[in-house]
Amino acid sequence: MRLANIDGRTALRLADGYLDVEAASDGRFGPDPQGLFADWEAFTHWAGEYLRADPAGRAAPTTPVAGAPFGPPVPRPAQVFAVGLNYRDHVAESGLQIPTEPAVFTKFPSSLTGHEQAVTLPEGLVDWEAELVLVIGRHCHRATRETAWSHVAGVTVGQDLSERRLQLTGPAPQFSLAKSYPGFAPTGPELVTVDELADPDDLELGCMLEDGEVLQKSRTSNMIFDVRELVVRLSAVCPLLPGDLVFTGTPAGVGGARNPQKFLAPGDTLVTWIEGVGTLRNPMLAP
Ligand code: ZN
Repeated sequence: MRLANIDGRTALRLADGYLDVEAASDGRFGPDPQGLFADWEAFTHWAGEYLRADPAGRAAPTTPVAGAPFGPPVPRPAQVFAVGLNYRDHVAESGLQIPTEPAVFTKFPSSLTGHEQAVTLPEGLVDWEAELVLVIGRHCHRATRETAWSHVAGVTVGQDLSERRLQLTGPAPQFSLAKSYPGFAPTGPELVTVDELADPDDLELGCMLEDGEVLQKSRTSNMIFDVRELVVRLSAVCPLLPGDLVFTGTPAGVGGARNPQKFLAPGDTLVTWIEGVGTLRNPMLAP
């Protein structure tokens, strides 16, 4: 199934629109998209039954989508993990060694935004990073490779926007802070459950400027630490909580590694896609 946050309300995708989950479930679930993770299994069970009984959603009002603002599908995660240097070609363009442990940082949740939401560029050098984002559905501590995917509710498209000057100056890198300006974590448009994907370990992903220049294009099968390994290694330390996010790293093609370097400018619109998951669009505004 595919879920969106439309104007703060949980909406379930139908063939030609979205179902308002609170109305369709008589208030049992929704409207808050984060609330679904209090009992993700009960919600998916209800939604599956509902779609079987009423696939067109005729019994309940659909949410008007035209012009409605999309919020992040997971608006208030307790924890947001992010992984740097997780694609070989991106490690190479960064001039670094292949890591033997994932390079983990956080994007503070106040940086989250949604599809079609504008991002106000701060002073500095703002770079793009197209990423597959995992949404945790089931509490997870010390997962094994065999069970890792079963803790993942679904995935969404993400951008790990990064201000490179703050990130790389000072006595030690400032990954978490430099990647957490307001709007620096666009996600969406939808949370897509894992069963919707033919092979969740091999999805094309990339981003482009809307005027046509493709900036990044790769496949998630090129990750150094794949999704299973990330869930294993993160949950070996931190329990992963329902509704947490994991940004899984970006492939080659970031602006800071180009010669000459290239960064986002006011008036650019960044379009980010993942095969079978969706396309996320974010215009960039002047400071
Ligand atoms: Zn990143």
